Amino acid sequence: MASNKNNSDQFMTLMIVPHGRGQQSWSIRLPNWGIKSLIASAILVLVVFLGALAYSIQVTVRLANYPTLLKERKVQQAKIAAFTEETKQLNESLDEMHEREKELRNLLGLNSNISAPVPAIPSNLQSQWNKDLRKLDGQIAPIVLDLDKQYYALNHQSDMQLKSIKRLEKDVFNYRKRFSNTPSIWPVIGGYIYSGFGMRRHPILKRYEYHTGVDIPTFVGAPVKATAAGVVRFAGWLGGYGLAVYIDHGYGYATLYGHNSKLLAKSGDRVSKGMVISKAGSTGLSTAPHVHYEVRYWNKPIRPNNFLTLDLLTARARLW
Ligand SMILES: [Zn+2]
Repeated sequence: MASNKNNSDQFMTLMIVPHGRGQQSWSIRLPNWGIKSLIASAILVLVVFLGALAYSIQVTVRLANYPTLLKERKVQQAKIAAFTEETKQLNESLDEMHEREKELRNLLGLNSNISAPVPAIPSNLQSQWNKDLRKLDGQIAPIVLDLDKQYYALNHQSDMQLKSIKRLEKDVFNYRKRFSNTPSIWPVIGGYIYSGFGMRRHPILKRYEYHTGVDIPTFVGAPVKATAAGVVRFAGWLGGYGLAVYIDHGYGYATLYGHNSKLLAKSGDRVSKGMVISKAGSTGLSTAPHVHYEVRYWNKPIRPNNFLTLDLLTARARLW
C-alpha cells in the first residue's frame, strides 16, 4: 500500500476534457521529472526567444540609425577637410611672414636665421580637447588631436611673427626716415678730397688753422647736392665761405656748402637728399673752384669723411 502510494506520487496526469458531446477525453500520464524538464525547457525557450527579440530590435534600431551615423561621419570628415585646408593656408601665410621678417632683418643688418619656437599647449586647453575628443569616434580622434595641435602652434606662431614684423617695420620706417636726414653722399662729383679736416696751413692766409670741413675740387657750375633731407636755414654770402648754403637735417646734424658761384636754394626751402642746391665756384677765400663741405653735429664741425658714402646698414652700425 505504502509502496503503491509512493509509486503514484511520482506521476502526474494531465487531462484534456472536451465540452462537446460524444467527444472523448484525452489524458497523459507523466512522471514528475518529465514535468520539471518540460517547465525548464519552456523557460529556456522563452529566454532564447526574448534574447533573439532584443537582438533583432537592437539591429533594427541600428539599421534605422545607420543613415544618420553615415551623415554624421560625412560631416566630421568634411569638418576635418576644412580644418586641414585652413591649417595649410595658415602655414602658407606663416611662410610669407617668415620671408618678410627675413627681408626686414636683412635691411637692418640683423641675424635673419630665425626660427619660431613650438609653443607649449596650456593645460586648460588640453583638457578641453580631451573632453571634445571623447565625443568623436576612435579613428577620427587622433587626426583631430593632431590638427588641433598644429592649428594651435601655427596660430601662436603667426601671432608672434606678426608682432615681430610690426616691430621691425616700425624700426625700418624710423631708420629710413633717420637715414634720409643723415648726410650720406658726396656733395659734388669729383670724388677726392684736396684738403682734409683738421689742423692745416691755410692756402691763402698762410697760417696754421683748424679746417672745419673738407675741400673737394670741382669745376665752376658743377651741381652741388644736399647730402641729406632737411631745411635750408641760410643761403647767401657768408664771409670767407663766399656764397654758402647751410642746411639743418634734424637729429643734431647740419651741413654747409661754401664757395658757390650760384645759389639755387633759398632760406626756408625743404630739400631732399640729392637735390641740387647750388652751382660750384670759387667765391670767398678760395684759390680754385672747389666745394668746402662741412658736417656739423649740434653745430660742432665733425669729420665729414665718415658721412660721404653711407647706406642704411653702415649708418646703423656706425652712427645709431
Ligand atoms: Zn675748406
